[in-house]
Amino acid sequence: ISPEQLNSIREQFPALHQEVNCKPLIYLDNGATTQKPKAVINALSRYYEHDNSNVHRGAHTLSDRATEHFENARKTVQRFLNAAKAEEIVWTRGTTEAINLVAATWGRSNIKAGDRILVSGMEHHSNIVPWQMLCEQSGAELLPIPVLENGELDMAAFKSLLTPAVKLVSVVHVSNALGTINPVADIIALAHANGSKVLIDGAQAVAHWDIDVQALDADFYAFSGHKLFGPTGIGVLYGKEALLNAMPPYQGGGEMIEHVSFSKTTYNVLPYKFEAGTPNIAGAIGMAAAIDYLNTLDRKALAAHEDALLARANELAAEMGGIRIIGNAAHKASVFSFILEGAHPADVGTLLDQQGIAVRTGHHCAMPVMEQFKVPGTVRASFTFYNTLEEVDALFKGLEKAKLFLL
Ligand code: PMP
Repeated sequence: ISPEQLNSIREQFPALHQEVNCKPLIYLDNGATTQKPKAVINALSRYYEHDNSNVHRGAHTLSDRATEHFENARKTVQRFLNAAKAEEIVWTRGTTEAINLVAATWGRSNIKAGDRILVSGMEHHSNIVPWQMLCEQSGAELLPIPVLENGELDMAAFKSLLTPAVKLVSVVHVSNALGTINPVADIIALAHANGSKVLIDGAQAVAHWDIDVQALDADFYAFSGHKLFGPTGIGVLYGKEALLNAMPPYQGGGEMIEHVSFSKTTYNVLPYKFEAGTPNIAGAIGMAAAIDYLNTLDRKALAAHEDALLARANELAAEMGGIRIIGNAAHKASVFSFILEGAHPADVGTLLDQQGIAVRTGHHCAMPVMEQFKVPGTVRASFTFYNTLEEVDALFKGLEKAKLFLL
């Protein structure tokens, strides 16, 4: 994309235009959460200024308006994922809650002692711990698919782990710690041939490309609004209709019921069966505004720009020396996770922050993969389309300065 296009995109993100520690902010922590475009901020204030009301039950105009915007937001997500039906889109608080929902409902009714669940060795804790909890309750076994030294999934090992006992494979689409893009279409095809269901953790994928859950044939797909330029506190669980229909409800309360009596309660239809309580109405509307905004952009061109940012980081790292990149998969999203040899990641992060550069340091909620690479954590610069090549250059100038202090 041209510098002019990039400038006009950056204009849409107010938070990018500020000083931090007396330096212009360089925001390279998009893997943790993305900044929000004006379209999202405006949609949130428009909702609260004009339409704020509770959904689905109102006998009045505001409630009808809120309901219409809320259900239209669901349709926007349906189109974004190319799901067959809006009923397959369940609102959650985020990726974490979406995975917990599947573990607590599909898991408890389908997983029994002796069964196996496979995750990858590069999972975020939110795609490990819910399955561990389920295994503790059910007597099933959780096994990690090994990760190779370059940060790719060991597909040969995956194939040999695929035995009839494997009822579920739950893997991350893009690793937040390594940037690895996993071959999820192949994983799903292999798992289905084995009779296993598949959940894909799309938290880090949705910001980079459009997802087609039908083409992938994913059984479940989870993501968070805040990593997609939308608000926090809202996320999505996509599930195939037949699977969702067969699952028991998650939480009990309002909205998820059809009829309540002390002798028997019956449950609502999809997707409301899984949406107990007043939902995050503004969040859903904000997420849809983020998707509408992304749809005005040339996402292929943006993805190419992100690749160029990562290529520049790799190039500058090679020039600088003393940098160990953690995760060198052939297919990688714009995540640059590294160790400055001889320096603790937390110190590097603090010195970069003093220069206005925001990165993430630590284990990135993926302790097992950190252990595999024998590091306590990394420094992670995660780029998105509003970042510039100059910002990547500034990161390395910042690292040179950090080196003077630390080495
Ligand atoms: N999975 C991955 C790969 C992630 O990067 C994250 C967020 N860092 C999550 C799951 C959890 O997302 P959330 O905290 O929004 O629920």
